[in-house]
Amino acid sequence: MTLNIILLGPPGAGKGTQAVRLEDEHGMVQLSTGDMLRAAVKAGTPIGVQAKAVMDAGELVSDEIVSGLIGERLDQLGSDVSVIFDGYPRTAAQAQALDGILSARGRKLDHVIELQVEEDALVDRITGRFSCAKCGAGYHDRYKLPKVEDTCDVCGSHEFKRRPDDNEETVRTRMAEYRAKTAPILPIYEARGIVTHVDGMAPIDEVNDAIETILATAGQSVHPAPVIEAPRGTG
Ligand code: ADP
Ligand code: ADP
Ligand code: ZN
Repeated sequence: MTLNIILLGPPGAGKGTQAVRLEDEHGMVQLSTGDMLRAAVKAGTPIGVQAKAVMDAGELVSDEIVSGLIGERLDQLGSDVSVIFDGYPRTAAQAQALDGILSARGRKLDHVIELQVEEDALVDRITGRFSCAKCGAGYHDRYKLPKVEDTCDVCGSHEFKRRPDDNEETVRTRMAEYRAKTAPILPIYEARGIVTHVDGMAPIDEVNDAIETILATAGQSVHPAPVIEAPRGTG
């Protein structure tokens, strides 16, 4: 059963953190346009060169570029791979593009999970965010420190990095962009009855539990599972 899920929420809501958990636990694949764009910046591709200043300012990269990246990445995946869209779509035009991108590949959007967070917490979340320079594992100065000081839990590296756009001023712009351009796409999905809201202020494990419950239900309602259970009431 293939699932196509959007994790929606403002910068710092926990989308990346939860997407990686779903990758680890279910073999789903995280499609993060932010990660794709940062890779393009690092590689110095034409898209990266164009995107860098926009990202540093906390503004949105063009719909054509990010939708193009998503389509390319989906084409590299098998049609039986379940995906989590993280940080995409971010505008009504991207939401519309995604419908076409999915249907052209025999896929369909199963569920949108909105991580609801208090805006005051976001600056704190984002200015405390850092990651492993070698494997990219995500951490936080207060909420998710490595288990052994200065040592990545995943790969053992001692080198960490912070994003240039994770400063208070840029975060304010990113939050304003979210309010103005991304939040308005929620009603589109609500009208289709595929949105579930999750309390993103809860601890990371609890948010993960809530998402797991939604996925179990989404999977069943969309693609009924074959009945393989033994009859009940025999114990
Ligand atoms: P997003 O991808 O939505 O921008 P991240 O997943 O990168 O957000 O999370 C932002 C920061 O907040 C990270 O440093 C992460 O470790 C931390 N974080 C994520 N979820 C929670 C949570 N539920 N409670 C506390 N901190 C969290
Ligand atoms: P966060 O989840 O912390 O907001 P991302 O890593 O998703 O950050 O995005 C970082 C930056 O990359 C954004 O501020 C924006 O400039 C650009 N970006 C990422 N995804 C998109 C998108 N879908 N549309 C437009 N710009 C994007
Ligand atoms: Zn690491």
